[in-house]
Amino acid sequence: MSDLRSNQQRLWDAHMEMAVFGATPKGGMGRLALTDDDKKARDLFVQWSTEAGCEVRVDGVGNIFARRAGRDTNAAPVMTGSHLDTQPLGGRFDGILGVLSGLEIVRTLNEHGVEHEKPIDVVCWTDEEGSRFGAGCVGSNAFVGRRSVEETLKMSDADGKSIGDELKRIGYAGSEPVGGFDVDSFFEIHIEQGPILENEGIQVGAVEGAQASTGYMVTVTGEEGHAGTLPMVLRKDAMHGAARMIDAVDNVAFDFDPHPVITVGHLRVRPNSRNTIPGQVIFTIDSRHPDDETLAAAGRAMINACERIAGERGLDVSIEKTSHRDAVTFNNDCVEAVRAASTALGITCMDIYSGAGHDAINMTHVCPSGMVFIPCEDGISHNELENARPEDLAAGTDVLMHAVLQRAVRL
Ligand SMILES: [Zn+2]
Repeated sequence: MSDLRSNQQRLWDAHMEMAVFGATPKGGMGRLALTDDDKKARDLFVQWSTEAGCEVRVDGVGNIFARRAGRDTNAAPVMTGSHLDTQPLGGRFDGILGVLSGLEIVRTLNEHGVEHEKPIDVVCWTDEEGSRFGAGCVGSNAFVGRRSVEETLKMSDADGKSIGDELKRIGYAGSEPVGGFDVDSFFEIHIEQGPILENEGIQVGAVEGAQASTGYMVTVTGEEGHAGTLPMVLRKDAMHGAARMIDAVDNVAFDFDPHPVITVGHLRVRPNSRNTIPGQVIFTIDSRHPDDETLAAAGRAMINACERIAGERGLDVSIEKTSHRDAVTFNNDCVEAVRAASTALGITCMDIYSGAGHDAINMTHVCPSGMVFIPCEDGISHNELENARPEDLAAGTDVLMHAVLQRAVRL
């Protein structure tokens, strides 16, 4: 099993060629979904896939499927892929690795004349990043039926251009039905977008699942007053209260092991004037943890802390839950296939959780799914400086290839 390896140089070169479309001055990518640059990237992927002997199909929301036939042409395909669109100031590997790894697997299998029972589909999902049309994972959402095709095509950008019109404009309004057929399994390889693998010196992460996340909006209400005349003891300063709450919320993270990640990233101050005591402060809390119950417990602890501080300082506080997503667990057979492939190849592997959203999370709704993570430099992503090493791309691709072959049944 461990004889088959991808071609590290070819995989790296494919990334560098793909990085031409939407390149930014600092070496990153700005390739928003369904722009001219996205079209060029898609065209190149279609060209390479066709040259590799794949049958290419495009569905009604622009998802591209490149199929390497299996012996059983009626079998449900094993799918692997990710996305070619990027953030406005993104990197050359986020998403792109998942598509180009799939292509590299096809090229490697061709070179070695490897056959398999089930078809292997390499997929490029439409608009994963969500920076243009207001929501992420657009293509996979439609594929698994979480958003209707009609609604998807109507989504529009800041200039009022719709996904439907932009797909037609760039020639990717495909004729294939969106989803609705059996998929054997789905695997996605992605850069970790965090520092854990690099810090641990581990080549590959077997992704067990994705974190639960809960968002809150906290409104702290006190009383406005003159900054020069109102004595400290008489004040109901919403900002002082909010500051203590934000500190307490941060401390809550350290009361749990492993720590949830908790972020206060947005603040609104009323009246937001230099010499008026703030009468109201609204702030957001973004909290995430792999375990639903731990996250709920952290949420209760944060609410208790905010209410206690409000009581101590004579302020009102109201806390609204604004979003929630349960933790996602990837299919155990798929996770095990990743671990087993790493072991067979002598590639170091550790279990890891995804902090970010991915198309693979959507795919858990329709088929057994799993992910492979590889390290990225300093854990940096969604940044032009995003970087990864050729040998890590190749090691992850090898693990992905053997996991995919296990599901597709190598002959
Ligand atoms: Zn991504």
